[in-house]
Amino acid sequence: MRLEFHGAIQTVTGSAYVLQIGAERFLFDCGMYQGASWLEKRNFLPFYFDPRQIKDVIVTHAHIDHIGLLPKLVREGFAGKIHATSATVDLARILLLDAAHIAEADTERRNRKFGRAGRPQEQPLYTAADAEKALEHLVAHRYHEEVPIGDGLRVVFRDAGHILGSAFIQATATENGNTRRILFSGDIGNRDQAIIKDPEAPEPADVLLIESTYGDRLHKPRPDTMKELHDILAQAYRDGGNVVIPAFAVGRTQEILYRLRELADEGRLPAFRVFVDSPLAISATRIVQDNPDCYDDETIYEISASGRDPLAVPNLRFTRQTIESQEINNVKEPCLIISASGMCNAGRILHHLKHNLWRRENHIVFVGYQGEGTLGRLLVDGAPRVKIMGEEVAVAAHIHTIGGFSAHADRDGLLEWMQPLAAGKPRTFIVHGEEKSAAAFAGEVNRRYGIRPVLPLWHEKVLL
Ligand SMILES: [Zn+2]
Repeated sequence: MRLEFHGAIQTVTGSAYVLQIGAERFLFDCGMYQGASWLEKRNFLPFYFDPRQIKDVIVTHAHIDHIGLLPKLVREGFAGKIHATSATVDLARILLLDAAHIAEADTERRNRKFGRAGRPQEQPLYTAADAEKALEHLVAHRYHEEVPIGDGLRVVFRDAGHILGSAFIQATATENGNTRRILFSGDIGNRDQAIIKDPEAPEPADVLLIESTYGDRLHKPRPDTMKELHDILAQAYRDGGNVVIPAFAVGRTQEILYRLRELADEGRLPAFRVFVDSPLAISATRIVQDNPDCYDDETIYEISASGRDPLAVPNLRFTRQTIESQEINNVKEPCLIISASGMCNAGRILHHLKHNLWRRENHIVFVGYQGEGTLGRLLVDGAPRVKIMGEEVAVAAHIHTIGGFSAHADRDGLLEWMQPLAAGKPRTFIVHGEEKSAAAFAGEVNRRYGIRPVLPLWHEKVLL
């Protein structure tokens, strides 16, 4: 059998791995590249494999960098099933339609420019109709259910504790009587996140693909993180400033709401008017509220003890309509605005940054991963001026990064997660990390467990 590394290699986005067993080929994740324009251009390249020859797809979780190219895959002839957990199926619906609308709107805007310049028109990456077709291929599974896929492959989804519905996948592949247990980590969650469970322990495996997003970093402990958030909010409120939190619609938005509600319960949340200003985040929040079977014990206890919604923050408004979003700019009292996209490469967050970055009493708080080449990364790295929707904006607001609310395990979290596997010395491939982070993590894995991991090359194929 053979494993092929077609995405999230030496970078974080674009996850895609093909496992060939006999004559059958299976795809694990089908992610979009996100971030710098040189990366996003890859989304338009032909697939490095023939979508018509992929029997089935298995996806780890509903982040666009893991599912975002499914509509393109289906449009180019993929005819099989797409297996996922049931919460992932729910989330995939809103995310893929949203991605399609963004792709169509972007293309329309570019084509207007191209038309004026006399250049040929472009096609969108995919359309809403393509996304609808892809959704028909989704098949929902429960965690821990053994799913037979083809003759030679069985998979089990286990909770990865990263976002609602997230899974790592334990695959058992058999070819000519030889069996290999292959573990796809997907994204491994940070422990003690709001609402969702902690990552489960993996079972022994012969082959491990492990992410390394934060393979070279440690997050602060949760109490320090809460204090960090509280201090920023208190300072901003004293200054009469706004707080803008760019947040991924799925995951970080709900995490922040939960933490704000905790601060409110302790009487430590200043009286901001709070807005969740992203139609996608609003829909995602509803899906989280509709999937209580994915909650951790703490959240279940919280709900049964108080009878309340754990995301019910005082003075909170969900602004779905464009007009409501625009009205936020006219609010005179201090506002706390949670908006998407999380890496500031699209969406309403751009408007909020344009209106808030240039005033020194405001605070911008980053709580999630910022990919190379994104506006979010520029701000985190201290750019004094940035360009937003063609306009130059001075950065006078305070810029903060709070790592402790990350959806990703840090270096030690990853090492701890793989610890039950380490004694079996699996053949280990480090993926889903920028080069520096992946290399540092490989060194740590070697030091800690005596395993020599491989950093695969883009499109590399290995025999198992
Ligand atoms: Zn993810």
